[in-house]
Amino acid sequence: MAARRLGSAGRGGLIARPGYDPRTMPSPDASSADLPEHVRKLVTEIEREIGEDAPDGHVRDGRDRGETAGDAAEAELTRPIVGHGSLHTPHGPVEEAVREILVEIGEDPDRQGLKGTPDRVHRMYAELTAGYHVDPDRLVNGAVFDVEYSEMVVVKDIPFYSLCEHHLLPFFGTAAVAYIPRGKVIGLSKIPRIVEMYARRLQVQERMTQQIADFLNDRLGPQGVGVVIEANHLCAVMRGIRKPGTVMTTSAVLGLFRSRDRTRAEFFSHLERRSPFE
Ligand SMILES: [Zn+2]
Repeated sequence: MAARRLGSAGRGGLIARPGYDPRTMPSPDASSADLPEHVRKLVTEIEREIGEDAPDGHVRDGRDRGETAGDAAEAELTRPIVGHGSLHTPHGPVEEAVREILVEIGEDPDRQGLKGTPDRVHRMYAELTAGYHVDPDRLVNGAVFDVEYSEMVVVKDIPFYSLCEHHLLPFFGTAAVAYIPRGKVIGLSKIPRIVEMYARRLQVQERMTQQIADFLNDRLGPQGVGVVIEANHLCAVMRGIRKPGTVMTTSAVLGLFRSRDRTRAEFFSHLERRSPFE
């Protein structure tokens, strides 16, 4: 049974808004067309619905992706990364740095199993941090609707994987996002994408929770927003600071979710209820 601990926010408490400032948020890279192909594809997948036209005019759908997934994955492994700045390869600064780490921990970076590791690590981190390149306007584009609905909308059990910025180790779990509209709703499928946009960055769980809440608040101007994230942190589990299986819970509540006990209680009761389909 997983032990739980409430994050600094506590129920109903508001986490300080560490560092959230739309002006300093990493802006979508003007040169995102120059991103390595595998990262650009990810960014596009987060920004757009499957089936929507991708920027290159290529229509993606599940079938298309299914047929070519194996080939594409194979191609990804062999295709050189093309990019700009520190993304240049082969033997760019990232690869050199990874080699140095391998040497430093007493490994031989030239032995067979490690030969491709600097390149793989570089590729992987570019993917795991692709969220920096997602354009929030493109993500939301066309999916905000005028609807006179003023009951709570809850999307829960949204899985995510992120990287703790203190150790560059994964933390992962689920997010629950709720809001009470004020004349505007957002397409349901966009909410997991918003989570993804913030998860694919170097993060601390508290900030990620707040960023998701702030984003919806800014875009929809709702009567209130609530976000709860539960996650396992490998930096804690693997390094033995906390007992394995410890789950950290953080919450961010705005508007009615903050000011009205009844609203908050309704939100938390949604989180306790199991899905009727289980
Ligand atoms: Zn950590």
